[in-house]
Amino acid sequence: MIYTAQRKKMVERLRSAGISDARVLDVMEHIPRHEFVAAGMEFQAYDEKALPIGFEQTISHPYTVAVMTQALEVKKGQRILEIGTGSGYQTAVLCELGAQVFTIEKVPALGKFSAERLKRFRYHVVQRVGDGTLGWQSYAPFDSIIVTAGAPVVPETLMSQLKENGRLLIPVGHKDEQILTLFMKQETTFKKFELETLRFVPLKGKEGW
Ligand code: SAH
Repeated sequence: MIYTAQRKKMVERLRSAGISDARVLDVMEHIPRHEFVAAGMEFQAYDEKALPIGFEQTISHPYTVAVMTQALEVKKGQRILEIGTGSGYQTAVLCELGAQVFTIEKVPALGKFSAERLKRFRYHVVQRVGDGTLGWQSYAPFDSIIVTAGAPVVPETLMSQLKENGRLLIPVGHKDEQILTLFMKQETTFKKFELETLRFVPLKGKEGW
């Protein structure tokens, strides 16, 4: 099975749901999402759901990945820090858009599985296991930072690792519901945009839950 028809259908659904960035839709139409889900769940990979990837974590909904990627307005060669590698699917989407991706996962086994998978598909990423709420100082500053788990507050350290005009995209709120929030750094201030209410697994760690 190569799921071409299912992928096309998924993209049509994303377009109807308001995703308008043609590049985002195009890469999602080509990346084999079914290779990023747990064995036995491939046939559900293109449905509008989050699926378990083990360790109480999930691969995000297709819509969530699309809306987040669109909000980053990724440009070729940008340095992007991703917190919460999980399955590696969002990582692959960012790579396909030409970003140089640095990604951190807290659960060691997920870090290992996603690293193997990303390597198999020849995505070159800089990856480590650890607490992403502290960012990655040795590779900072970043053009964008994307957090794929829900935070109680915005981690200060992540804010400090952004370039001028950089973007931090992070779900902030309660454990069962968060507001996907975009911060754009402008000189000493941050412009804040609240995008929509979604539900993510909790961001754990020093500046998380
Ligand atoms: N983008 C991933 C999302 C996975 S869910 C995908 O679609 O597959 C969020 C991930 O964030 C989980 O794998 C979880 O283990 C991880 N996570 C939670 N807190 C973290 C932290 N402080 N640092 C790094 N990863 C974290």
